[in-house]
Amino acid sequence: MHSPDCIFCKIIAGTIPGQKVFESDRVLAFRDIAPAAPVHILIIPKKHIPSMNDLAAEDAAVIGEIMLAAQQLAREEGIAESGYRLINNCGKEGGQVVYHIHFHLLGGRPLGELLARQAL
Ligand code: AMP
Repeated sequence: MHSPDCIFCKIIAGTIPGQKVFESDRVLAFRDIAPAAPVHILIIPKKHIPSMNDLAAEDAAVIGEIMLAAQQLAREEGIAESGYRLINNCGKEGGQVVYHIHFHLLGGRPLGELLARQAL
């Protein structure tokens, strides 16, 4: 279930520190170490799933739990009404750096357009 070289698995196991803000049997959320907004939380399944490309039908429930954790955290962090963004980066061109699937919950300032526009 855990991958020994995965930094997020180490946070789950408690062998490296993480500023945890939500925990359930199957889901963990902690503050991003390099926040891009006043609220920047990473929400992850405890199961080591490398990326969106590796999701299986049996993972549908935990992904649903992650969405509900995001909703709850947005409320608790005071950004539910002002608005927020939930992002998953997948693969190299998607900007994924850590290969343990995670969802960034971002808010607390106007986040602007989804992407910086550039010539295609
Ligand atoms: P991504 O580019 O979608 O793979 O995002 C990885 C995120 O993990 C980045 O925003 C990093 O700042 C964050 N990150 C990396 N190491 C840690 C850590 N030890 N604790 C918290 N966040 C981390």
